[in-house]
Amino acid sequence: MKFDAIVLGAGIVGVCVADHLQQNGLSVALVDRKAPGMETSFGNAGLIQREGVYPYAFPRAFADVLRYAGNQALDVRYHADAMRELAPFLWRYWRNSHPARHAEIARSYATLIEHCVSEHRELAAQAGVSDLIRASGWMKVFRTNAKFDRERSVAERWRREYDVDFEALDSARLKQLEPDLDDSLAGGLRFTAAESVSDPGALVAGYARHFSKIGGRLFLGDAATLREGWSVETQEGRIESQRVVLALGPWSGPIAARLGYPMPLGIKRGYHMHYEAQSPARLNHPVLDVENGYLLAPMARGIRLTTGAELARCDAPKTPAQLDAVEPIARGLFPLGSRLDAEPWMGRRPCTPDMLPIIGPARRREGMWFAFGHAHHGLTLGPVTGRLLAQMMLGKETIVDPNPFRAERF
Ligand SMILES: Cc1cc2nc3c(=O)[nH]c(=O)nc-3n(C[C@H](O)[C@H](O)[C@H](O)COP(=O)(O)OP(=O)(O)OC[C@H]3O[C@@H](n4cnc5c(N)ncnc54)[C@H](O)[C@@H]3O)c2cc1C
Repeated sequence: MKFDAIVLGAGIVGVCVADHLQQNGLSVALVDRKAPGMETSFGNAGLIQREGVYPYAFPRAFADVLRYAGNQALDVRYHADAMRELAPFLWRYWRNSHPARHAEIARSYATLIEHCVSEHRELAAQAGVSDLIRASGWMKVFRTNAKFDRERSVAERWRREYDVDFEALDSARLKQLEPDLDDSLAGGLRFTAAESVSDPGALVAGYARHFSKIGGRLFLGDAATLREGWSVETQEGRIESQRVVLALGPWSGPIAARLGYPMPLGIKRGYHMHYEAQSPARLNHPVLDVENGYLLAPMARGIRLTTGAELARCDAPKTPAQLDAVEPIARGLFPLGSRLDAEPWMGRRPCTPDMLPIIGPARRREGMWFAFGHAHHGLTLGPVTGRLLAQMMLGKETIVDPNPFRAERF
């Protein structure tokens, strides 16, 4: 079976790339070992972070580093036995998080972020799943005035620099928007231009259905069978194409390395659990408890609690210690009822050390293209990545300058 392009990986990124290529008239095969959107893209917090112009940096304040070193922080933990392997990634991540360099990275990142909401809206409308996207923004809430003031001035800087709007919420306004949150909160910030998704897995599945409807083909297969030329073995037999896109999220590194592109990638794992809301409590927005490093999001299945980052090997067994540690705190923030999932879900944020995704050609391998490394913002950036990569592959004018995202920077 021959196609104009093979896309490996049917997470949010691969599905969006495949859809855009198919929309541009190519015949596209999308290959995954599971159904679309069943891995990292399934269980995230569902934020489309229009305000996220500064990607998440490595904390550089001495007090923070010390706090994380003890490995008891709620927001970041690590597996000691993975540190050697992760050291090259962490070292470069730390250097790129220097404020001046971070600001420079944000200037590139913001060009992608700018399109995140409009690109989702367009694709969701075509796919008939606009009802999964809510336009009411999301919130950070604060326990102390000191933290609230500090974060408000950061948000003010983002607004000055990148025109991303927010609403500062005193405790009365917060109560009005979220009547069932803990009364003792100092205040909050609502990012009004951001949107959120009530079921990220269903959104990816909806985009994948659209891809099939416009003629794209989905295959079950193993990307490890990729052979140069290019071909992949699937359950329906071998498929071939002159173009292949690697969009395997956290699993992209080993295959890229095998093909001559070793990259210092890292994984930040995260967990989720769903809860009933105690009747008649209601959560209207996704809410980040900043001082405690977890988020509560209203989802189709219930209230989803997502944790911060766990630095570990990609496939090491689950260790949901952060979830267990924040759950009692979350119960104090909002009246959560019983757990709804049999066990915590775990996902892996695919991270690059300069916090920018890798989008573009593998120049040393004819016909190979990359689309991975979207870290904390893969859901946010899937559709714009799809448009950008399709434009590059077809030699069209691009929606943003692709240069900062090239693979050869590593
Ligand atoms: C707890 C948590 C909260 C998050 N919250 C947000 C958020 O609010 N907003 C946001 O924008 N982002 C968020 N993220 C990040 C976001 O989920 C990821 O950046 C995004 O899902 C990555 O998408 P992807 O398509 O690159 O990878 P994936 O969704 O992991 O897709 C990769 C695909 O490759 C397939 N695959 C792997 N190996 C093979 C193989 N050998 N053969 C065939 N197929 C293979 C997998 O089955 C998978 O379907 C969060 C992440 C976590 C963990």
